[in-house]
Amino acid sequence: MIDQNRRQFLTATAGAAFLASTTSPSDVIAAPAKVRRIATEEHIAIPEVLDAFSKLAATSTSPNVKYLQMFYGNPLYVRKLTNMDVRLAEMDRAGLDMQLLLHQSVQDFSAEEGTALAALANDRLAAIIKEHPGRFAALATIAPQDPQKAAAEIERAMTQLGLNGICIYSHTQGEFLDDPKFWPIFDAAVKHRAAIYMHPGFPPDSMVAPFEKYQMVAALWGFQAETGLHAMRMILGGVFDHYPDLQIVLGHMGEALPYWLYRTDDIFALLMGDEFAPAGRRARPGGQAPGMVRLKKRPSEYFRANFHITTSGMFWNPTLEYCVKLLGAEKVLFAVDYPFEETEIGVNFMKHAPLSSRDRALILHGNAEKLFRIKASLDAVL
Ligand code: MN
Repeated sequence: MIDQNRRQFLTATAGAAFLASTTSPSDVIAAPAKVRRIATEEHIAIPEVLDAFSKLAATSTSPNVKYLQMFYGNPLYVRKLTNMDVRLAEMDRAGLDMQLLLHQSVQDFSAEEGTALAALANDRLAAIIKEHPGRFAALATIAPQDPQKAAAEIERAMTQLGLNGICIYSHTQGEFLDDPKFWPIFDAAVKHRAAIYMHPGFPPDSMVAPFEKYQMVAALWGFQAETGLHAMRMILGGVFDHYPDLQIVLGHMGEALPYWLYRTDDIFALLMGDEFAPAGRRARPGGQAPGMVRLKKRPSEYFRANFHITTSGMFWNPTLEYCVKLLGAEKVLFAVDYPFEETEIGVNFMKHAPLSSRDRALILHGNAEKLFRIKASLDAVL
């Protein structure tokens, strides 16, 4: 919601407030109303990884591997993941200027194989960016199975390859990033100012069974349940007290966390004793509950400081308006989720979303340019 004064201001300036400091009035009058569109959760895979995954799936007993192979082995997805002409045609049809590429997970391989495949994929991503100037940016894929080598790959990707951040497909063979053994990855991410896109995975093998009924294992419920859990583990484990500058990106409008912030703060206060209790809330008898980590802030404060969210697969105005109101448009980025969602549907959703011109520009490209250090393209702004 924007208030009346701001609405009048935006109307009076013909939606040009965003450009006020960088262009002259004559530029604004002459420019057509075209806002640059960058989609920030767009999947890609190199054939070498898909082939290696098929081999792994042929012998693995892991439900996670079996489910992932249903995606990686689907001919429709394989074509859209691997063929650049198909991808560019869909972007052009929809009027999408740029995709931020996320390579598919290498987290189910052995540490050695995953590390080698990640390096190969990142080399290929860097080449794609060069071959198609202005159309692609990319996040580095890593194999957290070997945290030290993953950290070294982050350094290589952010310095030598010029990639735009990091993508992690949530848990790694049942292990979560609140475990300090993974924290070399955060050291490298903070050092190189690389945001981490925490993309969903299937629920780990230890908790997948209850999701297997009614096809709930994937995007119907399993992905958001697993990724929301992972983000909460990072918050409650104190990751952001150790890394106050670390930035995590969650897709699908925040994997439901924005909806729960009141309750997580409230129950957190109850479990911590009186220190975090809001006025009028009773303190827990006996003080801090077992297993809690003494944090500096409430869960919602970390969510506001250390997280961005994207619109991937959530093209729905009520959630968009709620998240913009709750977090600010500065924390919301446009994403489609190619090839699992249609680019045209995502772009049309943003065209008609009830947003001010300023907020629409931030969500469609300004926030992505800043967070992922994508070169701003002034001529495409308006
Ligand atoms: Mn996705």
